[in-house]
Amino acid sequence: MRFSSLLSVSLIAFSTLTACSDDDASDGASAGELNLYSSRHYDTDIALYENFTAATGIKVNLIEAGADELIERIKSEGEASPADLLITVDAGRLWRAEQAGIFQPIDSPILNERLPENMRHPDGLWVGLSKRARVIVYNAEAGLPEPLSDYSDLANPAHQDKVCIRSSSNIYNISLMAAMVSRMGEAAAEEWAAGVVANFARTPQSNDTGQIRAVASGECQIGVVNTYYLARLAASEDPADQEVSSAVEIVFPGQKGNGTHVNISGAGLVSTSPNPENAIKFLEYLTSEPAQLLFANGNNEYPAVPGIAATSAVVELGEFNEDMLNAYELGINQAAAIMVFDRAGWK
Ligand code: FE
Repeated sequence: MRFSSLLSVSLIAFSTLTACSDDDASDGASAGELNLYSSRHYDTDIALYENFTAATGIKVNLIEAGADELIERIKSEGEASPADLLITVDAGRLWRAEQAGIFQPIDSPILNERLPENMRHPDGLWVGLSKRARVIVYNAEAGLPEPLSDYSDLANPAHQDKVCIRSSSNIYNISLMAAMVSRMGEAAAEEWAAGVVANFARTPQSNDTGQIRAVASGECQIGVVNTYYLARLAASEDPADQEVSSAVEIVFPGQKGNGTHVNISGAGLVSTSPNPENAIKFLEYLTSEPAQLLFANGNNEYPAVPGIAATSAVVELGEFNEDMLNAYELGINQAAAIMVFDRAGWK
């Protein structure tokens, strides 16, 4: 896995050098700049920016911080904000940015063609650039606790004292609940949540990696986590991580129903962007194959553009059908999801 990602970096470096010798490439300072506000920070992101600059001559200025902080910053900078693009993870955070009024529609036939409809905001306010699925894991030694093929099974009384999942304030859970509300309505989603709470092995705590470790150790028999955490452990060279990885098995929920809940890493064009053309150029570049490989694989996610391969650790998690619900729906139902969690007593 490590080898293949290094290989792809060098291939990209080569292809951008080739691009530089073409006449449409770098024309120095006149190509301008791009101000990127990003809550993502992976090693491969640096290569992404460098390759883009090498191919276009557009200089990338990067500001990294948490998503909520960046949204606040763009709001407070107002008309004078230098921000062109906001990159963040989870549809819930893109929704917060949309609600804050800091996005404008992206108009790009290239993005419309490359990205499936569920990876694009209906009014073009953001695009999804990579995907993660929220899946069920169980303790391998204890075996598959049946029934366990869908999220609904997490609420089955057969699983009392077995389920570990993080708190209801976590955005991944809020977006999962938003999907449940979309799919089954608030009343049924609340009933489901109450059933899951009744099955908690412990009070919600820790992050997704913490849930995987707790399932591996047997503290919990069942957990709910994002796929990239599983792939990260599987690809780790640390023997302790390898041990944890092989002590859990994965279930892609909903394969007989709507499919497994997926969420996105995505980007929106800031409404006051001083360099909107460069911003759209960058988004189009991010949907090219070499950039998708860096962007998605840097965090063991699924590329948003169909037909591009995930890392081997991700592929080895297995194939599945994804819930095609537009990530915008996850945004719309954020507030309802939080209320459902509250009523169900999910800490
Ligand atoms: Fe995460």
